[in-house]
Amino acid sequence: MKPGSRAVHAGYRKAARAPLSPPIVQTSVYVYDSLEDYDAVARGEIPGHYYARTSNENVAMLAEAVAELEGAEAGVATSSGMAAIAVAITALAPRPCPIVAPLDLYGGTWVLFRQELEPIGYSVRTVDFRDLDAVAGAIEGAGLVVCETITNPLVRIADLEAIGRLAAERGLPVLVDNTFATPVLCRPLELGASMVVHSATKYIGGHSDLTAGVAVGSREQVRAAAQRASRLGTTLGPFEAWQLAEALMEAPGVSGVHYPTLPGSAQEELARRLLPDGAGGMLAVQLDGGRAAVQRLLDRLGMVTFAASLAGVETTISHPEVTSHRYLTPEERAGLGIHPGTVRISAGIEEAEDIVEDFLQALGD
Ligand SMILES: *Cc1c(COP(=O)(O)O)cnc(C)c1O
Repeated sequence: MKPGSRAVHAGYRKAARAPLSPPIVQTSVYVYDSLEDYDAVARGEIPGHYYARTSNENVAMLAEAVAELEGAEAGVATSSGMAAIAVAITALAPRPCPIVAPLDLYGGTWVLFRQELEPIGYSVRTVDFRDLDAVAGAIEGAGLVVCETITNPLVRIADLEAIGRLAAERGLPVLVDNTFATPVLCRPLELGASMVVHSATKYIGGHSDLTAGVAVGSREQVRAAAQRASRLGTTLGPFEAWQLAEALMEAPGVSGVHYPTLPGSAQEELARRLLPDGAGGMLAVQLDGGRAAVQRLLDRLGMVTFAASLAGVETTISHPEVTSHRYLTPEERAGLGIHPGTVRISAGIEEAEDIVEDFLQALGD
């Protein structure tokens, strides 16, 4: 099956007379009539569930579906993307060690490193992942590499093949957050990643109506940490995002557009190599007039709404300075290229023409 078909069918094997749509198994605990039977399930020798915090049929289906889409042996679904990242980091690096991560890491992961991992002994070495020499230098003596296929909000692409090679030479595991790309556009395990995580709150969920995460990798790496049932859905508009980026470059008040495959983009070649089917629905735009221009845009947009999250079926716009990157200092933000006039757009699946028209009327006089 091609990825699009797998996205519909992965994770759920339907036997004859089974419901076409998987029923929700809504129970915290299961009945057993034999101690031996319980013991065998608890040891993982025979399939089954005994307590919902450990495992649940629906949660297992979601994890299996994402694992299948990513080409992984196994997966675990968690209560959020951050939970997936935390679980995956401790699976790959159980003891405190230096972690190499990109400067423009997702704000939540940044805060996890700074506020939770550093106080217990991990250290974080942040480098510009576009500079592979800097990555090679930072990797010496480290215990783990963490990166994102496409970063938030400036949609920079990590050269996963080169990073995987550098890490493999030193026996380091690589954890890749593939939230922005989804396995439809990129499967990091095929490019050298050890584990992949998703905020399923985003494209994997796709309807802005749930919070969930998934981590996939080898059977040993993946641990059961599932808490909540979620349904799998997909949405993706790479072509719409590309069309939107081209239109916005010409719009008044716009001084720059970030999109990996945009002609002239510094990462165009890498993007076309690593993401041959498109670079996803996320883009960033720099507005000349700073925060006031952003507020004016928000006031004037009709269909498109301001929302602090991303990757739903509806197009949304966010402002990293007040949302995802609010915990960075203005200097740290400026160093990353995030300015008061930077907005991130998450292209939904509406008609591309409607999205473009809404932005052009809002940016006009
Ligand atoms: C949203 C997001 C997360 C965190 O996911 P939650 O489901 O909010 O915990 C992690 N990484 C990226 C790239 C994200 O966009």
